[in-house]
Amino acid sequence: MKKIPYGKQLISDTDIQAVVEVLRSDFLTQGPVVPAFEAAVASHCQARHALAVSNATAGLHLACLTLGLGPGDLLWTSPITFVASANCALYCGADVDFVDIDPRTFNMCAVELEKKLIQAKRICRLPKIVVPVHMCGQPCDMQAIHALSLKYGFKIIEDASHAIGARYQGEPVGNCRYSDMTVFSFHPVKIITTGEGGMVLCNNPVYANTLHRLRSHGISNQPADMQPRPADEIWNYQQLQLGFNYRMTELQAALGLSQLKQLDAFVGKRHALAQVYDQSLASLPLLTPWQHPDSYSSYHLYPIRIPAIEDGPTQQQVYQSMQAAGIQVNLHYIPVYLQPHYARLGFQRGHCPHAETYFKQTISIPMYAGLTTTDQAHIVQQLTITLQPLVLHH
Ligand SMILES: *Cc1c(COP(=O)(O)O)cnc(C)c1O
Repeated sequence: MKKIPYGKQLISDTDIQAVVEVLRSDFLTQGPVVPAFEAAVASHCQARHALAVSNATAGLHLACLTLGLGPGDLLWTSPITFVASANCALYCGADVDFVDIDPRTFNMCAVELEKKLIQAKRICRLPKIVVPVHMCGQPCDMQAIHALSLKYGFKIIEDASHAIGARYQGEPVGNCRYSDMTVFSFHPVKIITTGEGGMVLCNNPVYANTLHRLRSHGISNQPADMQPRPADEIWNYQQLQLGFNYRMTELQAALGLSQLKQLDAFVGKRHALAQVYDQSLASLPLLTPWQHPDSYSSYHLYPIRIPAIEDGPTQQQVYQSMQAAGIQVNLHYIPVYLQPHYARLGFQRGHCPHAETYFKQTISIPMYAGLTTTDQAHIVQQLTITLQPLVLHH
């Protein structure tokens, strides 16, 4: 049986040609294509600086380190996200907590954030960094979160792993108007891909310099950065701090640069698919994803909510029957704090009630630029059969 995945890359002959050219060139890493890709993403997103990294998880780690996150500090994020949004704090020895979601957008709720900040201020345990996640590609309420950051003194890293190509209030996600940094992922299920890969964007040149150094072992070869050493010794580089090898290769960057040219077309295709789903699923007992008027989503995911109704199939039954039909629906996401690793840190059920309801009701149905009309019709038909047994049987 043919299987339909929930997400998949779309690779053209031009993409393949771009990678082959790098293979025949002088540099497989640390050549001219990574900076070209960085400049193209920065320009597309209207940010001053963009730094390519080996994946978004590495990007989140570097972003946290650059903002000075360390032991004793606190990072807050959304519970409805991939674990990487929270793990970045643990890598730095910091603590994590979670702010409940807005049940309409599935994004961190700015009202819940403010409530939690008021309590945290009282006990002198304010977060150093807040990581809003643009869930499914729909931007968070960044204006409100930014206003709170000024009042309570935290930094903001946008986890925009889902959201390259999205717009907030008419401006591209990634311009960091309401944040300190933005991180994109180029994993194959995301909007554009480099295989593995990510990018950190910012407008602050000091951040950009630190990110650059941390990406490559904490080493600099810039005379201005280096400490004085005896003139009769060769000091052509210095390790100034402890960094990592989180670099992107030239092959990945070539693929990314080529994919970036199709970004707007990919997002346009995702919108067209979403519109078909919105219309074809409207009469079924489920909720299609609501869109805030401030947002132009990149539609990384298309989650449907199946509220518990009497005699109706449960979320789990829909999930299983779609899987059995070869349609690889998914769940984005299990609340991070319910994961065994986080439960061991002391988090308990009930911590974020909206996130837990979402977890019990939602499944992601296939959404990717290469999804064909035939496959989409098949998905709609299977959902209809699963969710309207009464109609069909009578
Ligand atoms: C995919 C994803 C990541 C991690 O991206 P990688 O590039 O695979 O490291 C982080 N956060 C979110 C929300 C994601 O969806």
